[in-house]
Amino acid sequence: MKAAVYRRSQGLVFEEATAPQLEDDMLLVRVVNTGFCGSDHSLIESGFLADGTILGHEASGAIAGWGKAVTGFKEGARIIIRPTFCGNCRDCRNGRPYLCQTRRRTIGIGDLPGAFAEYILIYPQMAIPIPEGVDSRNAALAETFAAALHGIHTAQNSGGSVLVMGGGAIGLAAVRLLKILGFAPIVLSEPMPEKRELGKRFGADHALDPRGEDLRKETREMTCGTGFETILECSGVTENVPLAFELIAGGGSLCMISIVFASITLNQPMLMNFKEFRFTGSYSNTHEENIQCLAWMAEGKIDARPLISDLIPLEALPLVYRERINPGRAIKVMLQIGEEF
Ligand SMILES: [Zn+2]
Ligand SMILES: [Zn+2]
Repeated sequence: MKAAVYRRSQGLVFEEATAPQLEDDMLLVRVVNTGFCGSDHSLIESGFLADGTILGHEASGAIAGWGKAVTGFKEGARIIIRPTFCGNCRDCRNGRPYLCQTRRRTIGIGDLPGAFAEYILIYPQMAIPIPEGVDSRNAALAETFAAALHGIHTAQNSGGSVLVMGGGAIGLAAVRLLKILGFAPIVLSEPMPEKRELGKRFGADHALDPRGEDLRKETREMTCGTGFETILECSGVTENVPLAFELIAGGGSLCMISIVFASITLNQPMLMNFKEFRFTGSYSNTHEENIQCLAWMAEGKIDARPLISDLIPLEALPLVYRERINPGRAIKVMLQIGEEF
């Protein structure tokens, strides 16, 4: 089968890979669309990835077969794929399956090969049906929205003023979800004009350039001098964290959705005392959050497709990675792998 494979010497390479062999307790999926995620980029650049890894976890596809021990699936059934979890470990028992310690199986970033390939094997618990009226490209991006929804849930506020720092795919998804959930005013801070435009289209009341305007002064006016009740950090820019400490309201909630690996300098840590705000982070998402985002897609409340800046065949990925993804020019790269629905 065709696949984009990571090679330690060359990076991403288009190759003929061995097709997966069906096992008794697994499902075979024909991959249709796969989105390229920021975490795929981080993993490729980290140097930690094993030679021969197939990445790709934002996938839609159709059931193509199942093992002897599997029942209840139909040939051609349309699905997205999310990690399975054990249900027994401390985190699973405490309602955090996304942190499962013992059996965190997922494609591309876990212990199963990913969907930058024509076929993948998954466990039946990983399949989430795609509702009627949601196409394969939109469905492949449900996980991006679910990751943003998980961040909103982690922040634990149900409305009020909100600042989204960073207008990449997750930041823009967050803006759309905050609009659906009734937060206001929604402010997006993002340096790239085309991402700010998309932010307004998705429901931002204000979209500011953090370089060109005085963010502190402008946002103070927008929040009647109080600061933001919720801030979602989606940029990965380390300087945004101490800035968020300044912009958050007393009793507010700051959630890191972006995953920052670098050190962060907090020049005013006492603001945590003076404001008693919550400072938390979110990781991955739940099946329920994916199902909710797919349902909103079916109702027409979410259309993820405007996020797609590059729609490409699998063989173009190595070149597009070098020219568009790695230099930060693409918003969302979407691969066309199988026949779309
Ligand atoms: Zn992802
Ligand atoms: Zn577990």
